[in-house]
Amino acid sequence: MDLSLLDREIAALKEKGRYRFLRRLSTPQDARIVIEGREVLNFSSNNYLGLANHPEVVEALARYAERYGVGSGASRLICGHMDVHAELEEAVARFKGTESCLTFSAGYMANLGILSTLGDSGATIFSDEWNHASIVDGCRLSRARVEVYRHADVTHLEDLLRASSARRKIVVTDSVFSMDGDVAPLPDLVEAKDRHGAILVVDDAHATGVLPPHGRGSADHFGLSGRVEILMGTFSKALGTYGAYLCSTRRMVDYFVNKCRPFIFNTGLPPAIAGATLASLGLLTREPGRLAALWENARLFRAEMEARGRSAGSDTAIVPIPVGGDGDTMAVSRALFDRGVFVHGIRPPTVPEGTGRLRLTLMATHTAGMVRTAAAGIDEALRERGIGADGAAAAKG
Ligand SMILES: *Cc1c(COP(=O)(O)O)cnc(C)c1O
Repeated sequence: MDLSLLDREIAALKEKGRYRFLRRLSTPQDARIVIEGREVLNFSSNNYLGLANHPEVVEALARYAERYGVGSGASRLICGHMDVHAELEEAVARFKGTESCLTFSAGYMANLGILSTLGDSGATIFSDEWNHASIVDGCRLSRARVEVYRHADVTHLEDLLRASSARRKIVVTDSVFSMDGDVAPLPDLVEAKDRHGAILVVDDAHATGVLPPHGRGSADHFGLSGRVEILMGTFSKALGTYGAYLCSTRRMVDYFVNKCRPFIFNTGLPPAIAGATLASLGLLTREPGRLAALWENARLFRAEMEARGRSAGSDTAIVPIPVGGDGDTMAVSRALFDRGVFVHGIRPPTVPEGTGRLRLTLMATHTAGMVRTAAAGIDEALRERGIGADGAAAAKG
């Protein structure tokens, strides 16, 4: 292979302002972190509730590692299915109000598994255009026909469902969209899929531990428990650990145990991670104050932005702040970093062309002072580059 081709592709990425690189973190995933040797406020973490380094969760990890060791040693169907996996699956099913639960080693793996298992060659998958990359890749891995509907547009979805003669129809959506923080119109989606006999798959990665009133996810949030065929979500976001789950009927879980390749041919969660997740699920259920603090911080941040004439376009803990071009997006993120506030810039291809943005996430562990500092810093950094409330285009005309 001609290696200079790799160099040329990398050079092209750099030229477009799309080069990606890793930053080194030297602290736990907290409100205050040290990145590249510099202490900054962290507004880019999915550790919404501060559970990733909560002492009880850390202690559970150590305790379960003492008892079971580190690796689970085999795929779950061979001999890697330990007591703690079963206990976690029972606890998650109870938490989500479903009959049964199956855990996966990551959310990415779960989405590959769900879509490739249900999406056989006679199926059509109907996917929201803003769905997470792991859903997009699950669609690609499946043998199903894939129809993409306009973001959150249930009318468009119904047109596609009506026109389809597929034997099995699968509708898949993020519940809280990972880049924009908006919430999928679940009540309308449920009605539409019922009318057309489709299976609904909902990705609660950013809803579990986040959406009120209990952090049990989108179905509970909308009073639609029992109306969604497959609820998936991750342990890696608000629950602060690692891995993922699928919650459904006993029959569906049995089907996945028998058919789902990313479950069958993948080593099970490390037992200590499963134990730590049990502990963090316990904290989430027992101490609702964290969820309330998260929402108070989200409310405060929105109010601070609105006071500066800037809209904060979402009602969850993920807040997109429009910038525009790739260069501007990264420059504003850099300027904020220099001010001691870390907010990651998001560029294409993660988001559509020309819609570069800062993607800010609130945590329960931010103080009100930290939230105010971030809002003031963001407004200043945007103004310095002449960027108005709707992003660069509006300001530069
Ligand atoms: C993070 C995320 C995933 C992937 O989960 P991992 O456990 O990180 O692999 C899947 N779906 C959505 C919507 C996510 O935000």
